Amino acid sequence: MPARPASTPFSPDPTAWRVALHVPLPRLFDYLPPAGAAALPDPVGCRVRVPFGRSGDKIGVVVATGPLDPAIGDPKAVLERIDEAPLFDGELLASLRWLARYTHAPLGEVLATALPGPLRHGEPLPDTHAWAWRLTGAGATALPGMRAGRPARLATQLQAGQDPGAGVAEDRLDDGDRPGHVEDWRAAARSLAKRGFAERVAIAPSAVAPEPGAGPRLNPDQQAAVDAVLATDGHFHPLLLDGVTGSGKTEVYLHAIADCLARGRQALVLVPEIGLTPQTLSRFRTRLGVPVHALHSGLADGERARVWAAAARGEARVVVGTRSAIFLPLPDAGLIVIDEEHDGSFKQLDGIRYHARDFALVRGKALDVPVLLGSATPSLESLRNARAGRYTHLRLRERAGNARPPRVRVIDVRKRPLDAGLSPEMLAAIQQALDAGGQVLVFKNRRGYAPVLLCHDCGWSAQCPRCSTPLHGTPMTVHGAGRRLQCHHCGARQRVPDACPDCGGLALQPQGAGTERIEDALKARFPGTPVLRIDRGSTQRRDAMEQLLAEFGDAPGILVGTQMLAKGHDIAGLTLVAVVGIDEGLFSADFRAPEKLAQLLVQVAGRAGRADKPGEVLLQTHHPGHPLLETLLNGGYGAFADTELPQREAAAFPPFSHMALLRAEARQVEVAEAFLRMARHQFEAHAPAQADAAFEVQGPIPAPMPRRAGYQRSQLLLSAAGRRPLHAVLDAALPAIHAAPEARKVRWSLDVDPIDLY
Ligand code: ADP
Ligand code: ZN
Ligand code: ZN
Repeated sequence: MPARPASTPFSPDPTAWRVALHVPLPRLFDYLPPAGAAALPDPVGCRVRVPFGRSGDKIGVVVATGPLDPAIGDPKAVLERIDEAPLFDGELLASLRWLARYTHAPLGEVLATALPGPLRHGEPLPDTHAWAWRLTGAGATALPGMRAGRPARLATQLQAGQDPGAGVAEDRLDDGDRPGHVEDWRAAARSLAKRGFAERVAIAPSAVAPEPGAGPRLNPDQQAAVDAVLATDGHFHPLLLDGVTGSGKTEVYLHAIADCLARGRQALVLVPEIGLTPQTLSRFRTRLGVPVHALHSGLADGERARVWAAAARGEARVVVGTRSAIFLPLPDAGLIVIDEEHDGSFKQLDGIRYHARDFALVRGKALDVPVLLGSATPSLESLRNARAGRYTHLRLRERAGNARPPRVRVIDVRKRPLDAGLSPEMLAAIQQALDAGGQVLVFKNRRGYAPVLLCHDCGWSAQCPRCSTPLHGTPMTVHGAGRRLQCHHCGARQRVPDACPDCGGLALQPQGAGTERIEDALKARFPGTPVLRIDRGSTQRRDAMEQLLAEFGDAPGILVGTQMLAKGHDIAGLTLVAVVGIDEGLFSADFRAPEKLAQLLVQVAGRAGRADKPGEVLLQTHHPGHPLLETLLNGGYGAFADTELPQREAAAFPPFSHMALLRAEARQVEVAEAFLRMARHQFEAHAPAQADAAFEVQGPIPAPMPRRAGYQRSQLLLSAAGRRPLHAVLDAALPAIHAAPEARKVRWSLDVDPIDLY
């Protein structure tokens, strides 16, 4: 059995219940226990309803019991204890406490973030059992005399099929492939029930699952990786599975999960937001032969609460979920897998700014289970940990099966004529691939029609009125085939003016190309060939992309897309990946930009030739000699990491230092800056004495988007050589910052380990 943290010892005579409430105050609230409390077990981890302020009552979670805070003059009592048994078990509560300390957020907010809406609002843990139908005694007596028809056929089945006292599960009755399946059985069941002949009963959670299917034989590298996971013997150990795209990482996960299930334990698999496709789910379902629960942002609140309950009851044996699935209770945990561990969607960018991968390691340690991180392009953080020996570094160097790696070629487009950003060589290559019966992916990481609308007569360009200042313009993106302007930062929309607002001229021209314009150009260039655009504009709904791709099929055609297409759905017929317009990314101020660009390029290139068809990747650039491209093309992602890590170290950037970002916004820039200056004084007053802590505060400086939706935004960047000194300063300074009058005039937030600085 893995070691678990002991739950808080029961205190026989608690004078107060310490409650975490969903309020932006960094403190807990003491209440007297409700009447009759002594009859029930320890309330720690249970939800309660408590009186709060003038607004009435709030739902909170009891996180401790103990002597009442003597500072409270007039203590109030808990109105209602909602849960009899704790909703948060010992490990989960302890891990979330750690997260609250690490993000410096109120525990009540962290607990609220961890819960699906209905549970946060005090609703009971929902039912997760399945339903079955069974014949009553009266039904058994009446059956021989029943008139032929659906009810009689169903009654016969209920009698024949049922285990004593159980019934026939609804999923079995639903199964149209079953011999003797009764069409419209629900109506027949209702008719039986009305006469008292049948009844609906709750049964154990559905065990109906497909027979586990066999997978391919593992190759030696895959086998070595699986062996390394098994060698952890179910105990905490981080492993980094560093395998090129298509090398069979998912096969390794499936074997590790099967072993976890065989040990009688639960497995949690985290995937990026766009990685949770029906394709992925059905691969897990058919291979594992157990029900697989999915948890993602597309689920209704009630459904999320049911998955939570199923996990908490140990009924969910395998959960595949996006970021927030890391908050699920796992009473029988045996394994945590994080696929595409480098993916940016694991970091939450508002509210509690946690990183699901980092928190997964904390929970893995607390639960004492192995944590398997996988990626073709590991984050530099994880690579450094692997190279330092903190993670076991597992490599899959070759594509699995017969698939060959794609050939990558650079097209120098300097001085070449471009049509919607596409060079003649690129267009010729697309033609060739289509003629050969292949599918083409044109990758452009910019949606919309054109990034800028420019007046050719006077130089005016369209800027967002809500986000721009005279010093910092924010261009609006041209959409709607050139008729509409939209700000990608605040969402503001307007029509393209008929004439230039500055000079009245009519020479307004869209500059550059986004996915919409490329789509138009390709449709004009390749009439008769299907052209499908996939980006956030074309696929608002979650399943829209799947549907569009299904319609697209595998006949020759062109896909145009942003990074939404860089991963997720497998496109088996893809033989050419055309990468256009990556040059912006080569010259960004963000120290993480090279890493993000390298990951994106490798992931996009990996889409080509995944099946038995060989693939080709063409990369069009004005900077063919750029060191990043050269390193990547000649040595792959590993070589890129070899040159990038020393540069990060020399500049003392993460992962060789640790950062926190204090953001503030207000209508007037002076107000935001006054708050940050006050905060800076506090941080400096508590700065560590040792010089080797390398503690630094920079700012206030304008945020990368200094004005957004009418608010002025400024920030303060803190950095230190280690986590410890950084957190010590934050712990010491934040109470005064919370309490300062300047804090009430701004919206502010703290982001520990920020991903987007610029
Ligand atoms: P990754 O997760 O690394 O991108 P996958 O696990 O999806 O790779 O595997 C890529 C393809 O190769 C899949 O179609 C998979 O079925 C196949 N595959 C994986 N391992 C093997 C193997 N050992 N032998 C043959 N085919 C394999
Ligand atoms: Zn003009
Ligand atoms: Zn805007």
